Amino acid sequence: MSEDFYEVLGVDRDASEDEINRAFRQQAAKHHPDVSDDPDAEETFKRIQKAKEVLTDEDKRAAYDQLGHDRFTQADKHGGFDEGRRARSGGSPFDGGDPFGNVGDIFEQFFGGGGPRRNGPVQGRDLRTALTIELEESYRGATKQVTLRRPQACSSCDGAGHPPGANVRRCPECDGRGQVTRIQQSALGRIQQTQTCPRCDGEGDLVEETCSACRGEGIVQERSTLSVDIPAGIRDGQTLRMEREGAPGERGGPPGDLLIEVTVEEHPDFERDGDDLHIRQPISFPQAVFGDTVEIETFDGPHSLDIPGGTQSGEMLTIDGAGMPRLRRRGAGDLHVHVQVVTPRRLSPEEREALEKFAEAGGENVNVGQGFFERLRESL
Ligand SMILES: [Zn+2]
Ligand SMILES: [Zn+2]
Repeated sequence: MSEDFYEVLGVDRDASEDEINRAFRQQAAKHHPDVSDDPDAEETFKRIQKAKEVLTDEDKRAAYDQLGHDRFTQADKHGGFDEGRRARSGGSPFDGGDPFGNVGDIFEQFFGGGGPRRNGPVQGRDLRTALTIELEESYRGATKQVTLRRPQACSSCDGAGHPPGANVRRCPECDGRGQVTRIQQSALGRIQQTQTCPRCDGEGDLVEETCSACRGEGIVQERSTLSVDIPAGIRDGQTLRMEREGAPGERGGPPGDLLIEVTVEEHPDFERDGDDLHIRQPISFPQAVFGDTVEIETFDGPHSLDIPGGTQSGEMLTIDGAGMPRLRRRGAGDLHVHVQVVTPRRLSPEEREALEKFAEAGGENVNVGQGFFERLRESL
């Protein structure tokens, strides 16, 4: 049975939270250990619960989509997804690597457990790069080019480190076994230690010639330009993972991944808050009094917004669904319009007259047309 959380619940990858909750209720009703006579019901039920827990948490779901099932569950196991995230970004001593890798190495050194595993395929390192996009590109989704220098298998020797057809002889140090065994006396007694042969690096063979292009490393640094698909709705600071675009693996292992940290630039008009957008809209005093319909320019073209009569300056009106699209799922945030009533700095004689009448009609006693200095002069 597949473990994928979307499949567990039987929903599409872009299902909304409502759909997920509905699917969860259906599945839970079917597989609840109290009602199901399937002997595995309890296991199944746990899986359904876990799937729902992850897919209804915005952050966890984003991480799940980004990492894929296996990596996510691994991160989750190592002290929980949140812990893992904190450790990675918080500069922990284990930063940048599998904290258990080191322990493994120590075990190998002492007990010689390594051998075949060490000489087996090793996945390449993950590489990191950064990319800056505009808010509109996050709104629409985009395809961007990133150029980076990254290690690649040397094309002259096909990553072997020596020219094809180079002379090979058996390593005299390990007699072709790739490992050497040493006996050491220690406080604990005799320790038999098996190590990867330092002379041939575990290969068992020594090659007489090295490739001149890579100086025998099998790897060269190359500038590569990659096309990156930016999903609509990506937020500032999120990381995209391009699988298999990292450093090449060793001994037939797969390449690592390329992690791309995305910066979304600020926009002069829109301010983003999660999936919601905020914008200011100036309106005139008569518009605020009588109400009006105004057009708000969005990335999607103009949206009309009804301003009700009697709107106060600073009031917030909302256009549902006109915000940022939600990352990798249906729907969008809202657009919040902050209405600002603009006070005119200059008036035509007709406007002035009308406003004086307005003030008079309201019983207001305004010293119309007189600034501070004029009033000051009068009182002297
Ligand atoms: Zn080479
Ligand atoms: Zn050797």
